[in-house]
Amino acid sequence: GELKPEDFDILSRLGEGAAGTVRQVLHRPSGIVMAKKSITADPDTAIQRQILRELAFLRACVSPYIVSFYGAFLDEEDTTIAICMEYCEAGSLEDIYKKCKELGAVIGEGVLGKLAIAVSIISLIPTNLENMGIGWGLSRHHYYPVLKGLVYLHQQKKIHRDIKPSNILMTRSGEIKLCDFGVSGELINSLAQTFTGTKYYMAPERIQGAPYAVQSDIWSLGLTIIEVAQNRPALPPPGYSQLAIFELLDFIVHQPIEELPDDRSAELRDFVRVCLTKDPAKRPGPAMMLNHAFIQKWENTNVDLGKFVRQLYDWPE
Ligand code: ADP
Ligand code: MG
Repeated sequence: GELKPEDFDILSRLGEGAAGTVRQVLHRPSGIVMAKKSITADPDTAIQRQILRELAFLRACVSPYIVSFYGAFLDEEDTTIAICMEYCEAGSLEDIYKKCKELGAVIGEGVLGKLAIAVSIISLIPTNLENMGIGWGLSRHHYYPVLKGLVYLHQQKKIHRDIKPSNILMTRSGEIKLCDFGVSGELINSLAQTFTGTKYYMAPERIQGAPYAVQSDIWSLGLTIIEVAQNRPALPPPGYSQLAIFELLDFIVHQPIEELPDDRSAELRDFVRVCLTKDPAKRPGPAMMLNHAFIQKWENTNVDLGKFVRQLYDWPE
């Protein structure tokens, strides 16, 4: 059925982003615990309706690598737009590495490997998977999920990934899922007017005004891996914390991004180096990244991600 504002109880606050607040809520009629993101709504009702219509496209995005969408509606006396999605108990990769930092731990390469695989697969869209000999639902390495909905959205130029640690979530059982796809052009427009989001993860070509392309996601993946591997963002670069936004963007375009230290494997260090190729024409796309030695190494290796989150949060077996 349709989600209604009065059917929810707030359980806790999960986080705060530039665009709004995320709360853990109970949907009483279904008994499902969800994550509800509240974004300040444009007062124009025509714009509100358009945003809700566009967000409904998220229903088509069904994949084990994507956070499920339950619905969106006008909330809090029509002052906010509520987006209800699957609640991921282990939080975002940002929550996870901050917790690791607290514990004085570093994230192992198996976890980073599974992270790189999940993000690369989602970035395969809009590549035509059928042309790669991969049928819908049935997969070569059990990794290629059912992405028909997403391919459709991409063909319609309606999707926009925003890859960064806070948009990659983990469930209690250790599944890795992406969230916060930009499917609503109208929502992106109205957000652009009210805040300036972090541009740290933006690829050099996008800073220079090139249109969105899959190679840009691979850049963001490289920055994400450095951040999660080192328990701190790659940008601003160490020792440059006072950079103004213009200087930061200039740095991204012209200066080399740091490399991972040599206590990490040669494969991982090379993977990140390749992701951070400045020239988008020379940077491989996700299909080629999936053939990289680092991915190959972890693709057929079992990593107990459920155990990883249980140990991190001290959850019982
Ligand atoms: P950001 O721009 O940092 O991604 P968001 O508002 O999208 O801001 O998310 C803020 C935080 O809310 C995330 O870092 C995460 O801790 C939490 N969060 C978002 N969505 C979920 C979810 N579906 N399940 C659990 N936690 C979530
Ligand atoms: Mg987010």
